[in-house]
Amino acid sequence: MDWRVPLADVKLGAEEESAVLEVLRSGWLTMGAVTQAFESEFAAFTGAKHALAVNNATAALHLACLALGIGPSDEVISPSLTFVATANAIRYTGAKVVFADIESDDWLCICPNAIEAAITERTRAIMVMHYAGFACDMPAIMRIAKERGLAVIEDAAHAVGASFQGKALGTWGDIGCYSFFGNKNMTTAEGGMLTTNDDSLAEKIRLLRSHGMTTLTWDRHQGHASSYDVVALGYNYRIDELRSAIGREQLKKLPAGNARRAALVGRYRAAFSEHAPSLVLPFGESRGNSSQHILPVLLPTGADKQEFRSLLKQDGIQTSFHYPPVHTFEIYNDRSQDFSNSLWMTEHVAKRQVTLPLFPTMTDEQQQLVIESVVSALARIDAS
Ligand SMILES: *Cc1c(COP(=O)(O)O)cnc(C)c1O
Repeated sequence: MDWRVPLADVKLGAEEESAVLEVLRSGWLTMGAVTQAFESEFAAFTGAKHALAVNNATAALHLACLALGIGPSDEVISPSLTFVATANAIRYTGAKVVFADIESDDWLCICPNAIEAAITERTRAIMVMHYAGFACDMPAIMRIAKERGLAVIEDAAHAVGASFQGKALGTWGDIGCYSFFGNKNMTTAEGGMLTTNDDSLAEKIRLLRSHGMTTLTWDRHQGHASSYDVVALGYNYRIDELRSAIGREQLKKLPAGNARRAALVGRYRAAFSEHAPSLVLPFGESRGNSSQHILPVLLPTGADKQEFRSLLKQDGIQTSFHYPPVHTFEIYNDRSQDFSNSLWMTEHVAKRQVTLPLFPTMTDEQQQLVIESVVSALARIDAS
């Protein structure tokens, strides 16, 4: 479709182009010096001791689970209101996903009380997801994890550049996982990163990312090693120099992009509170510095979401839905379990949630089109 306003848009510039060309001409394409530079710049940016680049965030989440020793007979607590990769990464290890509800229809992140209620003797870890780049209640979650001896993995796919109490999201728990997919706040086309402050976790991730081998092709090319041993059942989850080169340029542009997102969100909030008071904009409270990855809104209870979305589509405006709850998907739909109580808020929010366009290069005119279309669609829905 030729949208007048797409949901998201990505524009790379001359900086990314010349960075990629430089790699192409250098004669070294696979994980090497450019990736190392990207990793150390990302570590500095987040304040983490270690940053390890991988081919995507799903691989990062899988490696995080493996490095923490999660496996069959373990349980990991996760939100259901997330992208399916969050839960799949747990399942890859043979562990069971135990879903916990979100805080409220204002704060769409996993709820500390629901986490506590979901803990059993088998629970090994808590997986959190910073929805739209807004912080989960990390002080409470870290307190629970400490008391109960649980690991914490942060799915920070939305949260690059976000922080809470001055601390980057993704660096509160044991391991943070970031995505550089094409529609994220910074992109390498496909790509991801893990951060950790723990030397031994970093070492395990390093091994598992590249076949469990003790040296890399790059080390041997440089003459630093001539052979290798294989000490773990690893994977090929490596990134490459082309993507890392794009990532380094994107990281430089990230703060300006996130600031533009925040300005657009401020304008959306002001316009909707004046002209569309029945529309609920979650994340109204102030809790740190969000990366504003997406703009979720909640329609009035009972409003026809399909009708609303098709009215916007008629105006050339793309919308989305974040997310169909994972527990409702066929492969997660355990019919022996009744989620209507335990995931009540997740289901309540999912019924009403729509995502509106938000991206740094969105023009003021494009935003005005979205605002006008939303206001008129709501008026029509209210009237029907
Ligand atoms: C995008 C996303 C992922 C997966 O990232 P990939 O890099 O595409 O593997 C995981 N979790 C969440 C919440 C995401 O939005």
